[in-house]
Amino acid sequence: MNVLISGASVAGPALAYWLHRHGIQATIVERAEQVRPGGLAVDFRGTAMRVLDEMGILGELRAHATHSGDAKVVDADGNQIAIMPGAIFAGELEVLKTDLTRILYDLTKNDTEYVFGDSIDTLTQEADGVRVEFDRGAPRQFDVVIGADGLHSRVRALAFGPKERFTNHMGYAFASFSTANYLDLDHAGASHVSGDRSLNVFASKENRAARVLFMFPAKDVPRTREAQEKAIRTAYQHVGWEAGNLLARMPEATDFYFDELSQITMPAWSTGRVALVGDAGYCASPMSGRGTSQALLGAYVLAGELSTQDTLEKAFAEYEEALRDYVASTHEMGRMARDSFNLPPSQELFDAIAAAGTGDDTMDNLNLKNYATKVH
Ligand SMILES: Cc1cc2nc3c(=O)[nH]c(=O)nc-3n(C[C@H](O)[C@H](O)[C@H](O)COP(=O)(O)OP(=O)(O)OC[C@H]3O[C@@H](n4cnc5c(N)ncnc54)[C@H](O)[C@@H]3O)c2cc1C
Repeated sequence: MNVLISGASVAGPALAYWLHRHGIQATIVERAEQVRPGGLAVDFRGTAMRVLDEMGILGELRAHATHSGDAKVVDADGNQIAIMPGAIFAGELEVLKTDLTRILYDLTKNDTEYVFGDSIDTLTQEADGVRVEFDRGAPRQFDVVIGADGLHSRVRALAFGPKERFTNHMGYAFASFSTANYLDLDHAGASHVSGDRSLNVFASKENRAARVLFMFPAKDVPRTREAQEKAIRTAYQHVGWEAGNLLARMPEATDFYFDELSQITMPAWSTGRVALVGDAGYCASPMSGRGTSQALLGAYVLAGELSTQDTLEKAFAEYEEALRDYVASTHEMGRMARDSFNLPPSQELFDAIAAAGTGDDTMDNLNLKNYATKVH
C-alpha cells in the first residue's frame, strides 16, 4: 500500500511514523517550504501520553516542556483578581508547537518521502487507486490519500465539499506571537479579560521569552498579516492592562499566527480511498486544548486500522468507531471553553473548568487497541 498524506504538522508526520512501523510507505506533501515554525504551545493529555511514549519521543518532549505554571488574572490596572490553574491550558505535558513539529519531522524524515512547497491540486478516485495532480510536481497514483492539512484542508474541499458545509465558526479569532519576557513572568502566565476579548501572556523558553495570545470576537479572518494586525489593534484599542505595550511589540514578531476559532464536524471521515485525520477531519478548536492529542490519537488508530483490516472500508469504519465519542467530547470541551469566555472571570469559574478536565476517568483516557507493529 502506498499512502499520500497532505500536511506536515502534527497529524501528518505522526501518521507517517505509525504507517512505517506497520510496514506501509508514506509520502507527505506540505504546502510550506519547510515544517512551519510558529504557534504557541500545544499540550497532551491521557492516552496521547502513552502514544508519545510508544513513539519513543516522550523523553525528548519532556526535555522541551514549557513548565507553565498558573496564570494570574488581572483587572485593567493589573490588580490580581483570580488564579487560573495551569491544568486548564497546559495539560499533562506542554511544549511549544514548533518543538513538537520539529521532533516529529526528525523522527520520520529518513523513512518518509517529504515533498515540500507543493500541494494537491486534483484527486480522481479510480477502482485501483487515486490519481493525484499537484500544483507543481508531476501527477502520481496512490492507493490511499489522507488529508492531514488542518482546519482549511484542501483534501477535504476536494473530496468532501466546501469548508463552509462542515464548519461551525465559534465567533472568535485567535492570534499569537512571541516577544521578550518583559513582564518577568517566572514559568507563569498573566491574563486580562475585557468583556468578550482576552489577552494572555505566558513565560516561555525558560523565562527567556513570552508568548502572547489574543482571543476576540471576529467573523472573518483577514488574509494578510497587515490586515490581521489591524483587526487585533482595532479589537484591543480600548483594552487596559498591557494591551498597548503588546500591540506595539506585535509587528516585530517572526512567529505571528492568526486563525479563526472553528470546529469541523463531518458526517463521515472518509470517502472511498480518501480519509481525514486531525484538524482536517474533526478540529475541536484551540479552545478545547485537545487538538494535538486528538491528531496523535487519530494518526495512531488510522495507521493501526489500515494495517490490520482487509479492506479500506473496514479500516476507515473502525477508525471512526474508535474515536467518534472522544471527538464529540473534545468538541463539547471546546464549546464549553468558548462559552466560559462570556462569563465574568472569577476563581469559582476557573476552578470549575480545571476540575472538568482532570481525573483518571475523564474523556482523555481512551481504551484503544494495541496494534502489533512490524518495525520497532
Ligand atoms: C503554524 C501553526 C501554528 C499553530 N499554533 C497553535 C497554537 O498556538 N495553539 C494551538 O492550540 N494550536 C495551534 N495550531 C493548531 C494545532 O497544530 C492543531 O490543532 C493540532 O496540532 C492538529 O494538527 P494537524 O496536524 O491536524 O493540523 P495543523 O497543525 O493545522 O497542520 C496542518 C498542516 O497542513 C499544511 N497544509 C495546509 N494546507 C495544505 C495544502 N493545501 N497542501 C499541503 N499542506 C497543507 C499546513 O501548512 C500545516 O503544516 C497551529 C497550527 C499551525 C499550522
